[in-house]
Amino acid sequence: MDRVTQPTPTPAPADPAATAATDPAAAEPAATDAPDAAAAPPASSPTSAAAPSPGGRGDRPAPRVVVVGGGPGGYEAALVARRLGADVTVVERAGLGGAAVLTDVVPSKTLIATAEWMTIAERAHDLGIRLDVPAGQGDGADPAQDTGRTRRHSIDMAAVNARVRDLALAQSGDIRTRLEREGVRVVIGHGRLDGPERVVVTGDAEEALDADVVLLSTGATPRTLPDAQPDGERILTWTQLYHLDELPERLIVVGSGVTGAEFAGAYVSLGSQVVLVSSRDRVLPGEDADAATMLEDVFRTRGMEVVGRSRAEAARRTADGVVVTLADGREIEGSHVLLAVGSIPSTEGLGLAEAGVRTTPSGHIEVDKVSRTSARGVYAAGDVTGVLPLASVAAMQGRIAMSHALGDAVAPLKLRGVAANIFTAPEIATVGLSETALVERDAHFVTHTLPLARNPRAKMLGVRDGFVKLFAHSTAGTVLGGVVVAPRASELIFPITLAVSHSLTVDDVANAFTVYPSLSGSIAEVARVLHQTDQG
Ligand SMILES: Cc1cc2nc3c(=O)[nH]c(=O)nc-3n(C[C@H](O)[C@H](O)[C@H](O)COP(=O)(O)OP(=O)(O)OC[C@H]3O[C@@H](n4cnc5c(N)ncnc54)[C@H](O)[C@@H]3O)c2cc1C
Repeated sequence: MDRVTQPTPTPAPADPAATAATDPAAAEPAATDAPDAAAAPPASSPTSAAAPSPGGRGDRPAPRVVVVGGGPGGYEAALVARRLGADVTVVERAGLGGAAVLTDVVPSKTLIATAEWMTIAERAHDLGIRLDVPAGQGDGADPAQDTGRTRRHSIDMAAVNARVRDLALAQSGDIRTRLEREGVRVVIGHGRLDGPERVVVTGDAEEALDADVVLLSTGATPRTLPDAQPDGERILTWTQLYHLDELPERLIVVGSGVTGAEFAGAYVSLGSQVVLVSSRDRVLPGEDADAATMLEDVFRTRGMEVVGRSRAEAARRTADGVVVTLADGREIEGSHVLLAVGSIPSTEGLGLAEAGVRTTPSGHIEVDKVSRTSARGVYAAGDVTGVLPLASVAAMQGRIAMSHALGDAVAPLKLRGVAANIFTAPEIATVGLSETALVERDAHFVTHTLPLARNPRAKMLGVRDGFVKLFAHSTAGTVLGGVVVAPRASELIFPITLAVSHSLTVDDVANAFTVYPSLSGSIAEVARVLHQTDQG
């Protein structure tokens, strides 16, 4: 892995070209080879905000780090800062783990885990599995008898959501315990900057915390529409879904990005009628076109109504449901509506301007590739920076910030190796450069796609929809990126992530053993095809 040690100049935030961007390719840093951080001795640096003596030992006191926001960007950073010997306080106004644990990643993926079982159960009939039914009501073997194929498990939404909430709360508690065990002080309240070197906490207890280093990791909150205000009952944001006791009969999902697609897919599997309203030509507009098209086909096959090229403008309650009004005047009726129209960075009342912390036109905190803001000693990480809204990226930005601030070896953020997954059925996992990015750069690349339907393990599992696609440099054969559409694609993407991160060639991938039969066999198979293309 490319690494730089502290004295290596890192781009200053004042230079817009050096500011981390949402495009992974654009954010590629110029890094130099250097020893792995774990093996490297901590290096103090003139550019570090606090440049401590390791562990605060010696003649200087431990540097004081205050982290505002206890999500993945904040709590991972707090742990790193403790390991590097700092005196660390985390200020959190809701719960440790942040939105990631309490309302976003953990609850949504727990709900989707239930939906996944339902999807598998739907295929059971094709695999020769029958539901036991009481004597006299048919044995389930004859699809003509309203049994077997037509009967399905049902969802106890209150039980599903109770499990979701319990799991999220338990994880939040675990994170708090872990932080406190490591010696991090947790303060519950709203934090704001009072200049770059002080955080003022308001809430149950009020206090001012002086800091050598501040990390802002306040995340983001759901965007809503002016004429569609959530009421927590029928008009909902994703943070309010987990309090429903009944499965929505007819759920209108507004927004077909990752969040909208994940929830729309999950609720279809759980048994709701779902209408997905998309303002674009197809769902998942920013994703691999073949993957998005396949998912939309699967959605429609499973009974979802996809309303494309339609912008929702308003939602209102009716006596027993909701009506969503589209920009062209059409109305869609449903029992509930979910707004999945993006997020707004949580910067309100943070005292940014007064402390000299610049924001971007979109309202995100401007950072460079080592998470520095425009105010010396103030760093920012995670969704509030708008770099890439993933928990893994937030955590990495937070770790980098602390390593930089406290004088440890540090590598600037490198987004090319970030693997991302859309938790639909099938899942869509991607890593590296996308086909669109490669075409836009006029890159010399070759690509091949293998449908999963040809994979022996997929046939055995009854998996029909999915594919593996790789992009490789046309002469060097280096793997530049890949897409996997499959059940548990999130697990299958890892070999491609390794290949992209370590600049392996398609031959390296093709020559590694895969288990027979396995879905990952298709990854090696695509790599073999690309080798032939290379030769041809
Ligand atoms: C529905 C959904 C599903 C997702 N699924 C995935 C997924 O599967 N994988 C993935 O990698 N990413 C996923 N994400 C993205 C992921 O949730 C975010 O990227 C991640 O939460 C960002 O972490 P963070 O630390 O920046 O912010 P957050 O997790 O939002 O944490 C910020 C914390 O700061 C606190 N805070 C805010 N302001 C203040 C203040 N002034 N004082 C004190 N505390 C404050 C908030 O209470 C919050 O706890 C999903 C997002 C959504 C919406």
